[in-house]
Amino acid sequence: MYFIFEIAFSSPQNYIANLIRAYAKQEQIEADILQTPDKIMMIFHQEDEKLETFLLGLEEILPASLFLGKGKHYFSDDKPTLMPVSQMHLPLNIAPCPVCQKEMFDVSSRRYYYPFTSCNHCGSQHQFLIKYPYIRPNTTMKFLVPCVACEEERKTNALRLDYPLISCIDCGIGIRMFDKESEHMALNKGDYRKLFEVSARAIASGKTVLMKTMHGYRKFFNPKQTKEAHVGLSTLLMASAEGFNTHLMMIEQEFNALLSIERPLLRVATKSDEIKNLYGSSVLVKYPDDGMTMLLAREIVTSGLDYIAYIECDANEEADFLVDFDMPIHSQKDIKLFINQDTKHFVFGERIVYPLEVQSNKNRVSVAHDLACVKMNDKSIIDSLEVFDTVKTQELYVLESENFESEHSNEHRFEQYKASMMSVLAEHHEVGQKAIGVYFYGSLHFLYYNGKEVINAIPPIPFESDNLWEKIATLREGSDRLVENYKKAYPNVWERLDKLKGDMDIFEVTAITLGLEDESFEGISSEALSFLGKGGLQIDTRVKDNRFDNYAFLTSIMSYQLGDVESSYLCYSIYESFGDYIGEIVPQLCDKVGTRIVVLAGETFANQSLYGRIQRTLGQYKSLMNKNFPIGKENAVHGALYL
Ligand SMILES: [Zn+2]
Ligand SMILES: [Zn+2]
Repeated sequence: MYFIFEIAFSSPQNYIANLIRAYAKQEQIEADILQTPDKIMMIFHQEDEKLETFLLGLEEILPASLFLGKGKHYFSDDKPTLMPVSQMHLPLNIAPCPVCQKEMFDVSSRRYYYPFTSCNHCGSQHQFLIKYPYIRPNTTMKFLVPCVACEEERKTNALRLDYPLISCIDCGIGIRMFDKESEHMALNKGDYRKLFEVSARAIASGKTVLMKTMHGYRKFFNPKQTKEAHVGLSTLLMASAEGFNTHLMMIEQEFNALLSIERPLLRVATKSDEIKNLYGSSVLVKYPDDGMTMLLAREIVTSGLDYIAYIECDANEEADFLVDFDMPIHSQKDIKLFINQDTKHFVFGERIVYPLEVQSNKNRVSVAHDLACVKMNDKSIIDSLEVFDTVKTQELYVLESENFESEHSNEHRFEQYKASMMSVLAEHHEVGQKAIGVYFYGSLHFLYYNGKEVINAIPPIPFESDNLWEKIATLREGSDRLVENYKKAYPNVWERLDKLKGDMDIFEVTAITLGLEDESFEGISSEALSFLGKGGLQIDTRVKDNRFDNYAFLTSIMSYQLGDVESSYLCYSIYESFGDYIGEIVPQLCDKVGTRIVVLAGETFANQSLYGRIQRTLGQYKSLMNKNFPIGKENAVHGALYL
């Protein structure tokens, strides 16, 4: 008789299954750990007397994860047979696991306040990779020789068996702190702790600290006590989980996602007056995501603060203090998550998603946004371009905008929207089926996939932001009057719009029109979040032949603005109007070609009002979005395998 414990797990990443496997080894319990596309299965002998202790211990060592779902257990006479799991060893880029964190805060451990603490199943690893295969001589740690204790641990600690990046304070990376006059090098446990303590106190007293973290340089400061400009554009770093409910308005799923070991960026609604005053109606939030930030956050709590803020910057940023280390690191683009009730999507970024092993039968290399999919020993890996050596391939697919020289005789250039649509279809096993697609990122494309190739069915009308007033004035009869009225009511905005260059997208221009601090799609999206009412205004998006017209859209927004409509209401309505427009065109296209499959791709869909509207208007269709890949442009490297 077998005892079977299953936990839902919605990702192809294998660090949780590997951790459970290693823990079973440490506890010397006989167990089979299997991973399928949607769960992790643990199979034990029912009579095993170690079972109960094992399961209790598992609760302690298992991190919270974005991908973990509900668990269940049952008994079975037969041992379930499942496909063997992939064992490819890829470097991770997540937060430290509970066991590693415990070491970092245990004064008796060799890693007390050591920010580079990690194991086979957690931490910042990808930052050190120079090339594959992932072994120490291929990482920037190759020049650091492990001490005797680390060497021993690499053979005996089940969680760090053969761990390529093993290190501790005695043999690892040294950190230093500079102020305007002096430099302090941390040499022992006491120094490491002191360095973070001093940094935290400086921040609490209104100073700025520039720190090299595993995600690049960050300038940390206390947003309540700072001379920094543009505090509203900084990321809010919650130093302890305690402050969440006081300062932010979140659903349980958002709370769990922020605290998960993957530590994504998330935009959430603000609650306390102090945070509202600093950030407005919503804020980009982060819970400490690497060793450096985590140790700083611990000391921030000790100095009496719930939160601080940071901006991403480079090594030359001006600050009162600098905390640095000599090891070169390659940081990945951080990932932003979008949550709507029980659904989650990665909006953009690389971290957490890549590196990833994917299935591909083709002898093809794809390249897009500095990412590549390359075959190594009959496995295909997607990762940053720079970690791959030159390879032989029959065909090469490169994104059209990519700056990439190959001289390959069989090179194909492809468009972003085509690859994005194929990525979604591949993830849902619908390659070869007819489908309608909508690609929405700045501009809106309606696509048709006939089972073989993606066709741009309704291309977007080009938008040029120069000579804007002239274009608006001649739109229809009476438009010139609107331009005059607008000039009187909003002379400063009028002036700015008059001098625009031609290459801005419609959302940037809309954000400037509405006077938002964040002049981008993101700015409109966050402004829309603060509208709590229901039902939007009808924003006119069309002039001729029923197609979306950028200038009509802007004109409509300006006339509402002249009618004193609140900008949060307008921003909300912008997305609702797009939702209605998509909801009207898609069914027409579906009928025309005879399909019920609808693919939605592009970052713009990560918006609560648009997303909600689309769910309603396209409810009767099978609408598909990326699950494991970002809905934004970083899915192209994957989709290109199916072009
Ligand atoms: Zn760990
Ligand atoms: Zn060591």
